[in-house]
Amino acid sequence: MDKNNQNIRCNQCGAFMTMHFDNETEELRGACMCCGYTVEVVPVRDENGQIIRGHGGLPETEVHFSEGYGVIVVAEKDGPCHYFMRKKPYTDDLKIILHRILEQSEMIDLERTYVTLWDRQTKQLYCFCRQPPEQFAASAES
Ligand SMILES: [Zn+2]
Repeated sequence: MDKNNQNIRCNQCGAFMTMHFDNETEELRGACMCCGYTVEVVPVRDENGQIIRGHGGLPETEVHFSEGYGVIVVAEKDGPCHYFMRKKPYTDDLKIILHRILEQSEMIDLERTYVTLWDRQTKQLYCFCRQPPEQFAASAES
């Protein structure tokens, strides 16, 4: 499968996010690893599953996006990173649990671990423990 990647600025927080274009399905998808915003541009298909094309063979597309509620990225010591896009608001209990895990665990590489919360009311990004890494970081102009 052939994929094309392009870095763009997140519509929501201004961080860098990667859009992936899938040549096979002609779907364009991206997720912001800073605030949890996700966007997908998918071709419209007819009842037979065939992509509906307009002038010049370009597919008709639908755009779906979600604000998200933040991102949990946990890096194992000398191991991989685990990415969780937060689909629901954080509860106070979950915040306390996260703080305890991040403070005490000897399994976690704190240099590569971060937890963010996207506040839909204020449109602000909050970081629980540390800032997201530079390749994802929002511009500092705000
Ligand atoms: Zn973002």
